[in-house]
Amino acid sequence: MTTAKSDPTFRPERQREVAEALRAVLPPSSVLSDLEDTRPYECDGLSAYRQPPMVVALPDCERQVIAVLDVCRRLNVPIVPRGAGTGLSGGAMPIADGVVLSTARLNQIVRMDAYSRTAVVQPGVRNLAISEAAAPHALYYAPDPSSQIACTIGGNVAENSGGVHCLKYGLTVHNVLRVRMVTIDGEVVELGGEALDAPGLDLLAAFIGSEGMLGIVTEVTVKLVPKPASARVIMASFDDVVTGGNAVARVIAAGIIPAGLEMMDRTSSRMVEPFVKAGYDTDAAAILLCEADGTAEEVDEEIARMTAVLEAAGASAIQVSQSEAERLRFWSGRKNAFPAAGRISPDYYCMDGTIPRKHLARVLTGIAQMEGRHGLRCANVFHAGDGNLHPLILFDANRPDELERAEAFGAEILALCVEVGGTITGEHGVGIEKIDSMCVQFTAAELEAFFGVKRAFDPPMLLNPNKAIPTLNRCAEFGKMRVSAGLLAHPDLPRF
Ligand SMILES: Cc1cc2nc3c(=O)[nH]c(=O)nc-3n(C[C@H](O)[C@H](O)[C@H](O)COP(=O)(O)OP(=O)(O)OC[C@H]3O[C@@H](n4cnc5c(N)ncnc54)[C@H](O)[C@@H]3O)c2cc1C
Repeated sequence: MTTAKSDPTFRPERQREVAEALRAVLPPSSVLSDLEDTRPYECDGLSAYRQPPMVVALPDCERQVIAVLDVCRRLNVPIVPRGAGTGLSGGAMPIADGVVLSTARLNQIVRMDAYSRTAVVQPGVRNLAISEAAAPHALYYAPDPSSQIACTIGGNVAENSGGVHCLKYGLTVHNVLRVRMVTIDGEVVELGGEALDAPGLDLLAAFIGSEGMLGIVTEVTVKLVPKPASARVIMASFDDVVTGGNAVARVIAAGIIPAGLEMMDRTSSRMVEPFVKAGYDTDAAAILLCEADGTAEEVDEEIARMTAVLEAAGASAIQVSQSEAERLRFWSGRKNAFPAAGRISPDYYCMDGTIPRKHLARVLTGIAQMEGRHGLRCANVFHAGDGNLHPLILFDANRPDELERAEAFGAEILALCVEVGGTITGEHGVGIEKIDSMCVQFTAAELEAFFGVKRAFDPPMLLNPNKAIPTLNRCAEFGKMRVSAGLLAHPDLPRF
């Protein structure tokens, strides 16, 4: 952890040079360089890592974004884009000698088109604000991260964010039609289009999830979907997590795609219940929340089918929401699970791995064994239908070596995800948090291909450098890259 002015690498004359150059192209109040002003930007949701940026730039239009990029390119300054800073993998974590480009002032809904069921929004618009603006047209934006009250659509695009309703309605990548962005050269590029498909290579899909490394998003066209006429949710209890995990696979195998299929273990439901009073069965080893939406008849039919499957899969109790208020109450517990961790532990480390659903039970058993090995508790909350796990490792950073043990525990969970055929991230991105785990997941040739894409968009490598893609040196240090006679296989690749 460093603070700008105690950091031996801090160079006041460089800071002055960059701030002055930015003040020449932005209003003075849009450039922050005093430590008390830059401090609020020192971390994102991965708050164990902090670094105040050299300068923060707050452009309020695309023209100003281009101007910031021009200055940074000319002065060779790295740029970290930032939305609301709710990211959990350190994607918006600043660089000591870099500029944070905040999209907080690019917060306008440009157009709401109920006829074509689309909305055009600036990147700093909050996820929930889109659905609120679409509500009078009985429409909403489906991807719903639990952080949706705060996180921005620019951050969602950069992370390819998901949420409870993504099992049925798709992730960000399935709900964004067009992205307008500025490259490091200051060129404005439109990816995708207003139609359902666009000619040429699908660069939109490559861009979504690229963690601020390929360009700065300045405008997004999202799809809106009709609000379902009705929805109800089942809360099913299980006496052990393995039976609960297997039940998830059986619901999907029965050909049902619930509007949400989430699981919480007992540690999680007991953590949340006193805080939210969601009405959870806190005696159950695990609870599943399974939602059906559609017309009243469709919902009744799907609830009946899911109930039958869950009972056959060994559910010990089933409760179905009887009103909209009760449905929202059931979900409020799940949506508040991360903040609730703060009630039982000074710190928590939220992991994000994805596995084939059929391995849920095996991975949960593995995590339980790791709790003993690392001497730390873990609460399991997850988008079970997508196989996207969010183990919350509970620790106290003030106790010697607990952060290191939490990180080792997290890395072991991700390695297990890869071992069963899954991935090291579901929706929170790689950032700085999982960069070493990328060495576990990908070969040197694959990492080289990722750098190839990065270089094609950002030749000077100034956009969010050192995030998401590990250098081969880093993998070698991490012990996951073979170094023969002191030589790396790809000496041409960047090494920071
Ligand atoms: C309590 C809590 C619950 C959460 N639940 C979920 C969940 O259910 N699902 C989920 O997917 N995530 C979840 N998250 C993680 C986080 O909210 C998402 O990753 C979200 O998309 C981040 O948005 P943001 O605006 O905060 O972006 P930031 O954290 O500011 O940035 C995230 C990344 O996007 C880049 N970026 C931001 N804006 C731009 C832009 N305009 N152009 C280019 N790059 C940009 C940044 O450089 C960074 O790499 C949760 C976080 C918290 C704290």
